[in-house]
Amino acid sequence: MLPDFRVRQRDYLLEISRAITQELNLESLLARILRIATEMLAGQAGLIALKEEKGGWEISASQGLSTAFLRYLETLLAGVPDQKDPALFELSEINRIVQELTRAASFGMLTGVGLPLIVRQQVIGVIFIFRNYAGVFSSNDTALLQSFADQAGIAVQNARLYTQIRREKQRMDALLDSAADGMLIIAADHTIERCNPAFARMVGSATESIRNRSHESVIRWVQVKDGLTLEKAESGGWPLTPNATLYVEGDLERPGNLPLPVGITYAPLINPEGTLVNIVATVRDITRFREAEELKSTFISVISHELKTPVALIKGYVSTLRREDASWDRAVVRDSLTVIEEETDRLTELIENLLDASRLQAGALSISLSDVALHGLAERIAEKFRTQSSQHTILVDFPADFPVIVGDEGRLTQVLSNLLSNAIKYSTGGGEIRISGQSLPDQVVVCVSDQGPGISPEDIPHVFDRFYRSSEASKKTKGAGLGLYLARAVIEAHGGRIWVDPRPGGGTRICFSLPKDAKRKE
Ligand code: ATP
Ligand code: MG
Repeated sequence: MLPDFRVRQRDYLLEISRAITQELNLESLLARILRIATEMLAGQAGLIALKEEKGGWEISASQGLSTAFLRYLETLLAGVPDQKDPALFELSEINRIVQELTRAASFGMLTGVGLPLIVRQQVIGVIFIFRNYAGVFSSNDTALLQSFADQAGIAVQNARLYTQIRREKQRMDALLDSAADGMLIIAADHTIERCNPAFARMVGSATESIRNRSHESVIRWVQVKDGLTLEKAESGGWPLTPNATLYVEGDLERPGNLPLPVGITYAPLINPEGTLVNIVATVRDITRFREAEELKSTFISVISHELKTPVALIKGYVSTLRREDASWDRAVVRDSLTVIEEETDRLTELIENLLDASRLQAGALSISLSDVALHGLAERIAEKFRTQSSQHTILVDFPADFPVIVGDEGRLTQVLSNLLSNAIKYSTGGGEIRISGQSLPDQVVVCVSDQGPGISPEDIPHVFDRFYRSSEASKKTKGAGLGLYLARAVIEAHGGRIWVDPRPGGGTRICFSLPKDAKRKE
């Protein structure tokens, strides 16, 4: 049979080891340790002070002590040398101060004992127990408290590590949740362990429905444009080193949606034994990058084609005219000069349009407002175009009460000219072209219609896009595909709208609306 105090001691030690394994919340753990220690040493009060990371001490748990006394103790602890090494830790000095303080705090009968909490040769805190009856703590008491303090030290360390890991995890969660790029954490067997909201949004599924699926069933390539897929790279021995990241670019299959252009970087996570534990995949949506690339190549081809043709024509006519061995009659000279003039106009217009398009992209397409009589403006533009085409009949049809509106006259001239030049250019068979105006309660609507081939339904959604030309138009006519793009920009800058009106009878009708009360901007 064990003597009674040994049984109690064993029970207390058992309880504290239970606390160590069960309690991961530092505050409740310290309260529990202190309660057990105080009971075990038949004390009435106690406290645990932990060393702060940034230096100094903090009373982390106390029991049976008044706030005033704790405040005393705090100033006292502030004077304890900041020494982590247990060999240099002045325990006897602490005990001396504790004794002195207990007397000074007029607790009369109170005696106290203090011991350091040591983990891996480092002092991480101190534990104090007080009794309110006379008599010193025996060496047995101190030994008991020390074995207790040792256990408590480990428990505190565990709880601290746990708190640290939890904080790390919270940080990692926040990082994953807020990242703009898609992220996947993949197990070595390719099961997706985690997926962030950005990735779920990219593929249009919920994060939960992606988790636990295999990488192959989620990352399905419609086509790979650059690099090796994860599977191919692994069959080739990837990763050979811990820093061997893998980059692959291509179009990702998306259920019920268009493929998504992405670039994926795979980074291996290898443990010290050299085994692959995880693969972290960062998925970047490169749609904009691709669009910019495509736009750049369209731009270059449009420029080279559209600029080259008029320049070649001008050069051809000029070289012919200046041949010294030939004398041209007046009609030939006049016709040649007409062509040169027209081609120069075309060049000027193209350059203007390109400049406007780039201004627009830079957000610098400005409009300056004044009163505009659209009816008169339409008449003037129609007159100008009548001289250019004898095949077409251009009519202007506005009601007498059509109001004067507020707008940018120069820009609106550009819009009407673009619409009219399209109508002439695309209705090669001639016919009637009509500019009509309509006044509604809040807005005016102007339409330009022709009797040409019309715009096919699949082209309608795109005709206002930059550089867009129907395949039919590209085959038969010249143009950069900027006219309607700029027209839409101008109309929208006025607060209006532009659209293709369906015409079951054939031909094309493009209309725009402008608010009657557009606010004057400076
Ligand atoms: P640009 O105006 O820059 O010289 P473009 O005329 O080809 O070139 P847009 O005016 O923007 O460019 O027109 C875009 C496309 O819309 C044209 O290529 C053509 O396919 C179609 N389109 C526009 N207007 C008509 C029309 N009146 N009839 C038939 N198709 C049209
Ligand atoms: Mg055009």
